[in-house]
Amino acid sequence: MQHFPIFVNLRGERVALSGGGEAALAKLRLLLKTEAEIHVYAEAPHADLEALAESGKLTLHRRAARAGDFAQTRLAYGANEDHAEDTRIKALAEAEGALVNIVDDLHNSQFITPAIVDRDPVTVAIGTEGAAPVLARAIKRDLEERLPASLGLLTRIGKAFRAAADALPMGKTRRDFWADYYFNEGPKALAKGEDNAREALDALLARHLAQAPEPGEVAFVGAGPGDPELLTLAARRALDEAETIIHDGLVSPAILELARREALMIDVSKRGFGRSTPQEAINALIVDHALKGEKVVRLKGGDPAIYGRLDEELEALAPHGIATRILPGITAASAAAAAIGQSLTKRGRNTELRFLTGHDTQGFTEQDWHALARPGSVAAIYMAKKGARFLQGRLMMHGASPATDVTVVENASRPDTRVLHTTLAALPETTEGLSGPAVLLYGLAPRDAAAQLQLKAAQ
Ligand code: SAH
Repeated sequence: MQHFPIFVNLRGERVALSGGGEAALAKLRLLLKTEAEIHVYAEAPHADLEALAESGKLTLHRRAARAGDFAQTRLAYGANEDHAEDTRIKALAEAEGALVNIVDDLHNSQFITPAIVDRDPVTVAIGTEGAAPVLARAIKRDLEERLPASLGLLTRIGKAFRAAADALPMGKTRRDFWADYYFNEGPKALAKGEDNAREALDALLARHLAQAPEPGEVAFVGAGPGDPELLTLAARRALDEAETIIHDGLVSPAILELARREALMIDVSKRGFGRSTPQEAINALIVDHALKGEKVVRLKGGDPAIYGRLDEELEALAPHGIATRILPGITAASAAAAAIGQSLTKRGRNTELRFLTGHDTQGFTEQDWHALARPGSVAAIYMAKKGARFLQGRLMMHGASPATDVTVVENASRPDTRVLHTTLAALPETTEGLSGPAVLLYGLAPRDAAAQLQLKAAQ
């Protein structure tokens, strides 16, 4: 981001503009919306400029700008449509400490004016760093249509009521009140007139004050394998509305970025709390926040119902009567299968698909090795990095072919995805150098690899 958007307070501040033609008038149309003290320098001002000066909206100096004109000036505009004159203005204004904008000259400007959607006090500024004015205009048009003209008035009425609304407890209760005003009651009442909207606020406040604070709720949300595009719409909404987000280390930073800015983020990953946050401590944390009446999101990598210790957390909440819901996510196996272009089930190959874990809290896990060793069986194996040698030993002991395909997919769906195609015989060596989360697709080879092998055989 080369240009950082900010809103500058121009109330009573001096703004100087050099130029008396169309470009100057175009800039003034925007500047006149502010409460700045505007000075215009033009040897031959446009008639409209004379009119603006007469009505007292600005001070017109019927001469070229000179040294001293930009002292104590916040913003200076060069709108002469004349390169030499604008260059002179830039030097003058810069020397006197003003921030300079030369109309239609990005290179010589210290700041640029965005496209503006004005529903004062709601102002939307759109910038493209000068790269795509057409795009900026299209976005502006779109927003102009979408934001009702009454939004400004609605907001001004709301603003005047802020002190009264402070009677509501801070946090969710107060936010709910404002959401009710802006999205339900306010627009309805305003349609019947301005006074109506003010009265509606009084009634609305009384109603919200009477309501006891709602009990909290916990949403168990699947964050998917890492790519934010793979979040469900429901997960997006939950992240938008959450007051507290308790997340695992597996959840990618790109997804955490999407959370509500004010949300309290609690990391319960292995990295966050020394060695590891004990499950009991996580349970207690969720219960504590929910009992305070907060909207809690328990954010888990992949799908919360797959190796996510979901039941333990649900059971911890149950005695407290806290409402819960589960929003499923895309599990790592699905993302890994997508990365290698394969289906997890296939007619004639496997009618059954297994999800296994390499280890659990007790150590390496025993499985139905006999069934897994049969040709054509497919399994997605989670948390198998450490247990690769154990897996290999057990499977071969039960008759699995050493040549059985295994594909290791590390960081599935993330920019640093790695696909390592190997065989059961070479599996332990393959998993040795992995640092990110990895899922093993037992019985599957990448579709590309198969094509490449055939190609080699044909040559
Ligand atoms: N609930 C998660 C699994 C949690 S167990 C899910 O549904 O995906 C943690 C294991 O998931 C990791 O050890 C790894 O095997 C796997 N995993 C999670 N995210 C992954 C990713 N982006 N790529 C590959 N494996 C991943």
